Amino acid sequence: MIVLLDRNAPEGAAQQVVAAASRLGLPSRRLGGDWGRQAVEVEEPVPPRALRILRSLPHVEEILRAPSSYPLAASEAEETRPVRVGDVEVGGRELVLMAGPCAVESEEQVEEAARVAAREGASFLRGGAYKPRTRPGDFQGVGPEGLRWLRAAADRHGLLVVTEALDEAGCIEVAEWADVVQIGARTMQATSLLKAAARVGRPVLLKRAMSATVEEWLSAAEYLLEGGAPGVILCERGSRSFETATRFSLDVGALAAAKLRTHLPVIADPSHAAGRRALVLPLARAALAAGADGLLVEAHPDPACARCDGPQALLLDDLSALAQDMAKVGAAVGRSFSSRRSRLAVGG
Ligand code: PEP
Ligand code: MN
Repeated sequence: MIVLLDRNAPEGAAQQVVAAASRLGLPSRRLGGDWGRQAVEVEEPVPPRALRILRSLPHVEEILRAPSSYPLAASEAEETRPVRVGDVEVGGRELVLMAGPCAVESEEQVEEAARVAAREGASFLRGGAYKPRTRPGDFQGVGPEGLRWLRAAADRHGLLVVTEALDEAGCIEVAEWADVVQIGARTMQATSLLKAAARVGRPVLLKRAMSATVEEWLSAAEYLLEGGAPGVILCERGSRSFETATRFSLDVGALAAAKLRTHLPVIADPSHAAGRRALVLPLARAALAAGADGLLVEAHPDPACARCDGPQALLLDDLSALAQDMAKVGAAVGRSFSSRRSRLAVGG
């Protein structure tokens, strides 16, 4: 980014811009060359608050920025712009919890998950009726009836539904039953799927692919916004790394970097990153401390019998400890987390 001063700026005004950038933690340098006026180059990314401060310095006339490859997803002057789903805001002061099993298995299973998730403060019920499995012989999901079970259980407990669509026809079907269409890590860059998801009139939860850069992730979000999606929620779920003690490496750096580059809310999925139940809460706390707007977690009434991702599923009883962590870590970073029941009570 290049900051240009007006032609009347006294010698030394550029140094003041450099000093202000340095106070904001941004590397910068006075540019030589033929700008016809004093010019300072400031290293990107420049967070919105810093941009406002630099713009307001004496003699700053113009700021030049390289065109973004994701202009709709990029944050200009604003902080996170919350995405509204029903009565819930994702990306506001209040942290959001989305919880439920990896895969929908039975009506009873989603009912039990929804009951406890709602009790512990979740606002969304998650669970895949269609599962993107690595091996074709593995359980692929129960299909259409799973969507009905999710919707019914969520409605009984005042929850919203987020569930994955795997293909273009699936986007239309999922949008009939769910409040948010999930695009998974394996299909983050399937551009015809992104275009189809953008058309169905529901906000989209976009997982970060396991080896996508932040730039690629935000460019995928750009497909959704350009295609007309009424909102996009980003979800960091861990990258592939050399480490085998975790299933994936939760990338809190990418999460924090994304928060600086986009106005879209960013949540974290500590379950798929952890791969093991014991690691889910520590990773959840790390993500919240790094600025996540909420969490997507897997929880199952009987993880030992789960047809998918049992080892990483929290027991439903663990959700209460998770909720307490969300309130505590949230308070430390200027956010809050209160139970949905009490929000419903307040709101009537
Ligand atoms: C999921 O959340 O159900 C899922 C399949 O996650 P991911 O796409 O991140 O692997
Ligand atoms: Mn899973």
